[in-house]
Amino acid sequence: MTSTTTLPKVCPINRSTIRVLVLDDEPFMLRMLDRILKNLGCRSVVTCESGLAALAQLDPPSVRPDLILLDINMPNMDGVEFVRHLVDRHYAGALILVSGEDERVLQSVERLVLAHKITVFGHLSKPVTPERLAVLIDQWSPKPESVPKALKRTYAAHELHAAMVRGQLLNHYQPKVAVLSGEVVGVESLVRWQHPKDGMVFPDQFIGSAEQGGLIDKLTRTVLTHALAQARAWQDAGLSLRVAINLSMENLTSLNFLDYVVNLTTLAGVPPQKIVLEVTESSLMRDQRIPLEILTRLRLHRFCLSIDDFGTGNSSLSQLRDIPFDELKIDQSFVHGAWANDTQRAMFDASLSLAKQLKMESVAEGVEDRADWNFLRASGCDIAQGYFIAKPMPGHAVQNWIADWEKRRPLLIHP
Ligand code: C2E
Ligand code: MG
Ligand code: MG
Repeated sequence: MTSTTTLPKVCPINRSTIRVLVLDDEPFMLRMLDRILKNLGCRSVVTCESGLAALAQLDPPSVRPDLILLDINMPNMDGVEFVRHLVDRHYAGALILVSGEDERVLQSVERLVLAHKITVFGHLSKPVTPERLAVLIDQWSPKPESVPKALKRTYAAHELHAAMVRGQLLNHYQPKVAVLSGEVVGVESLVRWQHPKDGMVFPDQFIGSAEQGGLIDKLTRTVLTHALAQARAWQDAGLSLRVAINLSMENLTSLNFLDYVVNLTTLAGVPPQKIVLEVTESSLMRDQRIPLEILTRLRLHRFCLSIDDFGTGNSSLSQLRDIPFDELKIDQSFVHGAWANDTQRAMFDASLSLAKQLKMESVAEGVEDRADWNFLRASGCDIAQGYFIAKPMPGHAVQNWIADWEKRRPLLIHP
């Protein structure tokens, strides 16, 4: 099993410097892979029996593994879910997938991982042979991209609180256009923090702290207040735009939030039909009763409900059954490049067909280039959003952008 006689005598890389993590729920496999890796010359090998234990190895980023051998069938956190956590943590190393499943399953998981832009050196079917493992490992090179990048700084709750008090949060707005006609149908509000020293700070650097630090209601209220004022200004200027805001599930734990949204919207003089509330599916939660009540009542008040990042969580179907969503946003990982990738396209088609059967409007996120746009035009999806159409922009820039878009539009719908 551990014979190394057939292995190349001269290693093209210095395996002893690679930090390897092995994640497998079977202790026997862990011991075996550990032994094979050591025989192959890897000196830094850490083994973990669960996804949680392996994630703990990603902190601090400076000592992250360069390479993870990942068993895709594990009882609690399976390999695909583990990969999502790697994406969230901006893992910049490589993966080798290991499984007893047949080749097709391994290949499709591999494509899924690649769609998340994580490097995959390949897959190993069990039983693992040292020869095959050596071939895969030797793809590793200490090039700058595979050196863990410094993580973007995240901000603590007290810093965010101070920023809110000082009025440093602002909204940018990203247009959404009808795929068939090219008409601008609305915008999504995306919060930004104009930091006095660090410049523009993006939501993934502070939403988590806001949720954990009990500040998310305050943040959402700030975003909503700005968005409603902007919606009212556009309405007064004769622009008919639906304005979306992102809700965190943490917002949906108290009925006060419902009253707040309803009252503020009434006060702003904006019809609730013009406000879209986007909820991220992957964070839809354990006790669903209160969120379900709040969302259902918001719908009864005629707000539009949208399920965001669809396809990235694990219980999407039951949420679609229980919550009366009007709109389904297909996650950008299934959109950008779907025209060239069978797996992404399968996910895209399945999400779109669900939206159609449930009579929801479909929105494709992450339309980044002309090829994505052409793909969408042929797909039957209702609405497109992404850099190809426009990047998020300050509210005051939207009217000019619409004027420019109207000039581009004929070329995009009659190519
Ligand atoms: P999201 O709601 O799915 O928003 C779309 C994100 O994709 C935005 O990132 C947007 O700038 C980015 N995006 C748009 N078009 C493209 C494209 O063509 N390609 C690529 N690669 N990306 C594109 P952003 O603004 O950094 O926001 C990230 C996430 O932060 C949002 O994802 C949303 O979940 C959350 N977020 C933003 N604003 C708020 C907010 O006010 N409250 C809460 N709770 N979450 C927010
Ligand atoms: Mg959104
Ligand atoms: Mg999204």
